[in-house]
Amino acid sequence: MRVQRGRAVNSVRAAGVPRHAEKPTATLAGAPLAPTARAAPVAAEVVTLRDSAVWDAPFANVLMRRVMDHYVRQTWTSPEDVETYFRKNQFDPATTRIICWRDVAVGWLSLRWSADEVFVDHVHIHPAFQGRGIGSVVLRRVLAEARARGLATRLQVLRVNPAARLYMRLGFRVHAETVTHFSMEVPAPAASATGNGCRPGTGDAGPRELAAQYPDVPLFVILKMDVQRRGLRMTTAALDAVQGPEYNYGRSYVLYGQGEAAPRYAPGPLLLRDGTSVLALADAGGRNPYTVDRIDDRFVLFDGDAYVDDVDFTSRPAYYGKRTRRGVPMESIASARPQRLDINPYRFCHFWEGGNQCKYCAYFTDVKAQERCADGRVAREVDLEDVYDTVREALQEPGRFSQVMLTSGADYRGERTFDFEVDRHIATLQAIGRNFRTRRFASQLIGCAYDQTQLRRLHAETGLTAYCPDIEVWDARLFEWICPGKAKWPGRDGWIRSALDAVDIFGPGNVYTNAVAGVELARPHGFATEDEALASHVEGCEFFARHGIVYLSLVWIPWRGSQFANQAQPSLRFYVRLIRELRAIRKAHGLLARNDDYRHCGNHGDSDLERLEVAA
Ligand code: SF4
Repeated sequence: MRVQRGRAVNSVRAAGVPRHAEKPTATLAGAPLAPTARAAPVAAEVVTLRDSAVWDAPFANVLMRRVMDHYVRQTWTSPEDVETYFRKNQFDPATTRIICWRDVAVGWLSLRWSADEVFVDHVHIHPAFQGRGIGSVVLRRVLAEARARGLATRLQVLRVNPAARLYMRLGFRVHAETVTHFSMEVPAPAASATGNGCRPGTGDAGPRELAAQYPDVPLFVILKMDVQRRGLRMTTAALDAVQGPEYNYGRSYVLYGQGEAAPRYAPGPLLLRDGTSVLALADAGGRNPYTVDRIDDRFVLFDGDAYVDDVDFTSRPAYYGKRTRRGVPMESIASARPQRLDINPYRFCHFWEGGNQCKYCAYFTDVKAQERCADGRVAREVDLEDVYDTVREALQEPGRFSQVMLTSGADYRGERTFDFEVDRHIATLQAIGRNFRTRRFASQLIGCAYDQTQLRRLHAETGLTAYCPDIEVWDARLFEWICPGKAKWPGRDGWIRSALDAVDIFGPGNVYTNAVAGVELARPHGFATEDEALASHVEGCEFFARHGIVYLSLVWIPWRGSQFANQAQPSLRFYVRLIRELRAIRKAHGLLARNDDYRHCGNHGDSDLERLEVAA
């Protein structure tokens, strides 16, 4: 790879490029040549490649000189060396393809394929078309093909050439250097990182196709579920752009698989253009993640090499970076979703002891930390005064937070099962409540299956407004297999009974339960078909809705670290069908998922559907 960028010219024809006698595409002479300084990124589908022929030589060689000359002369001062460079790098039709934008030749690409790599010899874009993502589109395709073939992608770039930054954004890393060049590469992929993770034979379709087939489901909601399902990675440029105070969410949302030598700050939830928030982590299941790149001053979402949309990230809350009176960073006490404060009063789950954890779970995996607290104390508990300080500070930001959510792992210890857990939640809610003048404040507790006495205490002793014992898997047989801890403490009937009892105490519509949708298809004991899985959710949702309980779904991710890592996920179509069914049932029963809507949670596609109805 030699250079890509150069000084702008008015046209290739003005630069002396002749028209071809038999040109299969137009030349730049017929193209719009004055894109604005912030030209929109081009759609990938209007960028095409065609084979080259000998008659492309004048176009290619003149274009190369035009874009390279500046950097070659910066590198070599002797005119002989400069001429040697251009002579050695003459256009070769055997390895070259012409890059076209709407059938206009705007650049060229030269590749050499071998058994273990593809070497990018040249990629040159006409200066009038640089900065629009055409080079990125082309190189993403090369990377995708190399990845599919299991090959590394390598190139060389002059040290003085700023195109190196583009290559870094696309994932290239410097692996060698000389006085004149950097050698860069994207290594060959690990075998597990390829493929989209879909269940074979489901006939899956993409977001746009499904939006056309299900016009009552907005494209943004489908896109959200697909981003969650496949994960999200960020290019180096995008990650660089979220290190500053506007986006930096600390390390609370850890981005996996970035290949970064040093830990980087991660952004908060992704925001789609309609305000849909998306909780997504990078490539957590080794699937085929979407990519966020930084182009000009925008974040741009790509699916492979295809432009999807401009996106953004939730802005950093004002309390991040501040400390409690005890000197504890506030973001370690409460993490922020778009308009919700999430607090983990302690950070472990006793179900992990003895392997009773839910099989899809990758939270609170530090069993050793739990063992250290076998003396009856609570592991990794947060200090109540730190909680009070953090909530107080967070509420200072005008219009930002409208709900507090508490959750931790299961702690079945105590005179009654879960007494330790309930005591801890009551103390935490009381510390939060000192910040409010009203007795009750908008709050949700995602807890375990408490009995009536415990539920009454929570209601009487705190300002809690909503309670959520997550059933996770509705089918009785699969609940036993997938959630062994819940099946023991206190069993499926206990989880259902707890939700029903809570309705009497907190009121209809204020009790929720959640299902990890798709996990009931896990191998080897799961349902054989998506239709069976769908029917099970419909049955569960109808049961709970009849009792005034909101049944929500979220997209199952086969997390690394969970027992279900590497399992195949259901199709995107499954999730689209599911959220339509669940929303229809809740609507028929007059239930709204206000506590888990797009502003507060970011996890649930089906609660996002309610936005249109509430607004109407
Ligand atoms: S209850 Fe299940 S899902 Fe929740 S933290 Fe424990 S093992 Fe994980």
